[in-house]
Amino acid sequence: MTERPRLTTTAGAPVASNQNSKTVGRNGPLLLEDYQLIEKLAHQNRERVPERVVHAKGWGAYGTLTVTDDISRYSRAKVFEVGSKTEMLARFSTVAGEQGAADAERDVRGFSLKFYTTEGNWDLVGNNTPVFFVADPYKFPDFIHTQKRHPRTNLRSATAMWDFWSLCPESLHQVTILMSDRGIPVDPSRMNGYGSHTFSLWNDKGERFWTKFHFKTRQGHKNYLNHEAEAVIAKSRESYQEALYGMIEEGRFPQWDFYIQVMPEMEAEAFEQRTGWSAFDLTKVWPHADYPLIKVGTIELNRNPENYFAEIEQSAFNPSNVVPGIGFSPDKMLQGRLFSYPDAHRYRIGAHYDSLPVNKPKVPVATYNRDGTVPFGMTSNPDAYYEPNSFNGPVEDPSVAEPPHRYSGVVDRYEYRGEADHYSQPRALFALFDEAHRQRLFSTIAGAMQGVPEFIVERQLGHFDKVDPAYGAGIRAAMKGQGKDDAQASLTTSHAVAAE
Ligand code: NDP
Repeated sequence: MTERPRLTTTAGAPVASNQNSKTVGRNGPLLLEDYQLIEKLAHQNRERVPERVVHAKGWGAYGTLTVTDDISRYSRAKVFEVGSKTEMLARFSTVAGEQGAADAERDVRGFSLKFYTTEGNWDLVGNNTPVFFVADPYKFPDFIHTQKRHPRTNLRSATAMWDFWSLCPESLHQVTILMSDRGIPVDPSRMNGYGSHTFSLWNDKGERFWTKFHFKTRQGHKNYLNHEAEAVIAKSRESYQEALYGMIEEGRFPQWDFYIQVMPEMEAEAFEQRTGWSAFDLTKVWPHADYPLIKVGTIELNRNPENYFAEIEQSAFNPSNVVPGIGFSPDKMLQGRLFSYPDAHRYRIGAHYDSLPVNKPKVPVATYNRDGTVPFGMTSNPDAYYEPNSFNGPVEDPSVAEPPHRYSGVVDRYEYRGEADHYSQPRALFALFDEAHRQRLFSTIAGAMQGVPEFIVERQLGHFDKVDPAYGAGIRAAMKGQGKDDAQASLTTSHAVAAE
């Protein structure tokens, strides 16, 4: 038998007993001097950090990005060098549920990736859908309130959701995807991932290209129908954790093919004039026919974390983490998230969240950020604690400066909702669904609208009608059918009660 390590206090002193607390006599009171008892209880009180306000329930694993195709004409990023393999971390999640929520719920899934590149960490903080409910971060906190609990009832509120969605028709595209057959993937490996936002790539010549990132599942799409998901949840709230952990333990490593769409910088204006859609609107996609997918490589998840809390719960993904060759775009939601994500981590984990092992880059970090709670990542040149300095502190490198962005315009709060076209893209999606898929979509939406006040339902149905009259009509019919079922069910119940 191998010799077991000696138990110590957190200060490294050996512990004589970990079974019985110190008492005054066999039946006497406890002593405050029992440091190890006090430390264990006090530490227990601090075992949780605040859960994420959104995407609280998550599942993650480590893996590898392997680049197979040359995209150096678009980006100088070293992570895209053909043949390169980069270590990475993925965290998948649901948006609305709290940490104890069931995994197999109908919800958008987070699809966050951290690539530990040789030029620092590159994070993509995406979803399993290419679009989002809102296009402006000004509306993000409002939208999230509708997904969380009602202040008085402490229950999720279908009224709040549909009230908000019906007043923000840009949400129609995402709502249609959410209510479609892709709304409940059976596990994280059976869904696509999207960077969703428009980012930019820039090459060695200083040319910029707008880009969208796509990760297509190699396992194939597989989703639950509503009743199947209910049966799963009845048995396990942890079906994703079980599936992801299990498949990696068994060596069945999930993979996704990595693609980009590319739009030359100067084409964005012409795209908007031609289609009516901004290339930077998170509620819209770029049609594949105009911007075909360009292969980059493959990601594979092949290692489970050893400590879920340290490596997945405390993982911190920032869309602001880019590396030379990758940049941002004027996508309003992206711009908002560049602030709100790192700020969430500073609040949730602390100022030095990036120094935690899971978040720490694999390259040396040289920064003048100092002090704060648990500053264990601090550099060790005590004289160079400001910049510029004469004491050999780190200096900037102009060779990694990105090409300038061309922005100009009148400062205002521009209306993007109004008469804008929020209907054509959901229409294109609706056109992809066969009749059976449409019927399931109608029935899911009708079910999700139960109990919502009539005027909100009518306002939302008006939007579905504008997508396609068959869409609105289908939901109306499904609502009538479900209404009948409910009436039938209550008749049966009252009959049963009367018969007793
Ligand atoms: P395409 O016919 O070239 O592509 C259709 C896309 O729709 C495919 O990417 C397919 O994904 C995806 N898809 C199929 N069913 C669903 C669903 N229930 N939920 C979400 N995505 C689904 O069409 P276009 O590029 O012209 O786009 C048409 C519509 O397709 C868009 O309005 C948008 O709603 C949707 N879409 C478009 C994407 C894009 O980047 N252009 C990305 C995803 C969706 P897969 O190949 O994995 O089966």
